[in-house]
Formats: sequence, C-alpha cells, structure tokens
Amino acid sequence: MANILITQHIGGAGVQMLREARHHVTYRDKTEPMGQAELQTAVRHAEGLVCLLTDRVDTAVFDAAPQLKMIANVAVGYDNIDVRAATARGILVSNTPDVLTEATADHAFALLLALARRLPEADAYMRAGKYEKFEMFPPLLGLDVYGKTLGIVGMGRIGAAVARRGALGFGMKVLYTANSVKTAVEQELGAQKVTFPQLLHQSDFVSINVPLTPETYHLFTLDTFRQMKPTACLINTARGPIIKEDDLLVALRQGTIWGAALDVFEAEPEMTPGLADYHDRLLLAPHLGSATGETRRKMVETAVSNLLAGLAGQTPPNALNAEQLV
Ligand code: NAP
Repeated sequence: MANILITQHIGGAGVQMLREARHHVTYRDKTEPMGQAELQTAVRHAEGLVCLLTDRVDTAVFDAAPQLKMIANVAVGYDNIDVRAATARGILVSNTPDVLTEATADHAFALLLALARRLPEADAYMRAGKYEKFEMFPPLLGLDVYGKTLGIVGMGRIGAAVARRGALGFGMKVLYTANSVKTAVEQELGAQKVTFPQLLHQSDFVSINVPLTPETYHLFTLDTFRQMKPTACLINTARGPIIKEDDLLVALRQGTIWGAALDVFEAEPEMTPGLADYHDRLLLAPHLGSATGETRRKMVETAVSNLLAGLAGQTPPNALNAEQLV
C-alpha cells in the first residue's frame, strides 16, 4: 500500500482503480492546479503522484517529497516535469502515448479544414445577419486543401496520424522534419524528409507536432514566418511556446502568412495581448487536442496502470526513464 497524491480532477474511475489496488489515495478533486507552495506541501508523504500537464513538477517538488517513487503524467507531453532531475533521484516518470494519437490528429485536421474554409468566421457572419446575397467571390473566400502540400514538423505518432489524414483523405503531398528518418511513413504515404527551411518554403499547411524542448522553444518567429508562403496556414496542436505569439500576430497583420489555428498558447491559459481581438483567419481553441470523453478516459486509465505497475516494482508500459534508473 502506497500513499498516492492525485493533483487535480481525473474522474472517478481512475481513483477507484487505485483504491481497489488498496493504495491510500489523496484526491484533490479540483479543476485548477495548485500553486507551487501548495503542491510542495501536498506531495510531502506521497510515494506516487498522478499529475496533469498544468502541474509543474520540478526540483523543489522533489525536495519536498523524499518518498516519491513514481510520477504518472496524464498527458503524452511531459515538458511540465523535470525528468532529468527525477531520474537523478531514482524517480520513475511515465506518460500516456498512443491512446490520444488519433483524437489529437482528428483535432489538428479539424482545425486545418476549419481555418482553410473559414468556418468560425462563416458562423459569426451568419449569426450577425450579414448573409444578404450569394456572391461568386464572397468575403469569406477560403483555400483548397485537396492536393496541397502538408508539412509535418515532428513526424512522430501524432505527426504521422495527421500526415495519414492528409495523404490518404485529401491527396496531399507530405513533407516532414524529425530527428530520424521515418521509413515506414515514407513507404506508406510517400512522405519526404526535408530540412526545416525546405518545409517552410514548400508547404501550404504546416502542422506542428514536435514536443516542447529547449530546441523547439520559439521555433516559429517572424524569421520563420517570412520563410513560409504568403498563402500558408500554420496549425499548432503541440505546445504554445513553440510559437512566439507576438511575432505570429505581426505576421498575420502583415499578410506574411495566410492564417493560423492554435490549440495551445504561449502562456496558457493566458492569452497574448492582441490575440483574442484578431479575428481574420486566426482560429483559437482551448487545448482540446485529446479532449474527447473516450480518449480522456483512456488517458486516465493508462496513467493509473502505469503507476500501479511502477509501484508494484514492475517497469510501467510507458516509463520515460526506466532504462536510466537500472
Ligand atoms: P512523438 O511520437 O514523440 O513525436 C514527436 C516527434 O517530434 C518525433 O518524431 C521527433 O523525432 C520529433 N522531434 C523532436 N524534436 C524535434 C526537432 N527539434 N525538430 C524536428 N523534429 C523533432 O510525440 P507525439 O505523441 O506525436 O506527441 C507530440 C506532442 O504533441 C507532445 O509532445 C505534446 O506536446 C503534443 N500534444 C498535444 C495535445 C493537445 O491536446 N493539443 C495532445 C497530445 C499531444 P524523432 O522521432 O526522430 O526523435
């Protein structure tokens, strides 16, 4: 039996799984993260921690939690956890890959289509009573998607799922960047690995699917936007700080790129000043990438299964640092 802290609301099923395994669970059933001081106090006796991407789990938290053995993040991205520091202290860390891949790719593609065909603007237009006559070239002219070039920045699990939708459903040519060559995706979809500048120059739609790391922080700045086509669309379902949002606003205002769809934000949930007031070809969503009921429940189940395995002395299926710990 271990002491487990669940930092935020995850629904009853995950809590029940942990209690059925006879662990002592402290469940903070709230929908906002704790402040750092509160988290440090709450984690004091914890051996297991279930946390969300809005919980910052850093060395100060580890200092406050001498008995901590394992952290199960309920997300695939883990930029909120100092994994290196956890490893140095022998603490296992896990994430929830795969179960959210298709839902997140669906969302990325929904954003791509909605942006290209200007659906949020169309909806607002109708509700404002502005539709008075059919026009051959109406104010809300969009972009073709079929047969265009899709650039995937980070051809991992979600990047490949977005690419599949583009290539197989919309006849798109796929370019990508990644650290390594993705032979399976190249064979399946005819995708081509290119340099980042080549991807920027050639793509009509650019989908960001890299993790947030020191290398990808502010990967997209005014300099990057200037390398893109003026007709290009940018879709970000990865992490907000990959885009310098002040620069994005400048690029949109100046027509450097055609449009952008953002699911994640630089100072989430805060909005960069000016972003909410800018309406033309800028689509905003409140971090809904994996947000379907089915997928969110699978994420919780996956995180809890990882934690149960780790606390039982097994290697959790989605451990991020198990090899470094042995
Ligand atoms: P993944 O399978 O690890 O894919 C990430 C890919 O990025 C890998 O293929 C990696 O290449 C590539 N990469 C890493 N650094 C790079 C760099 N500097 N330049 C170019 N490529 C780079 O991860 P995933 O499961 O697809 O998830 C991707 C990210 O999506 C997560 O980290 C998370 O932040 C975000 N996400 C957001 C939501 C949402 O709700 N909006 C939902 C789920 C995930 P190699 O494979 O060659 O190393």
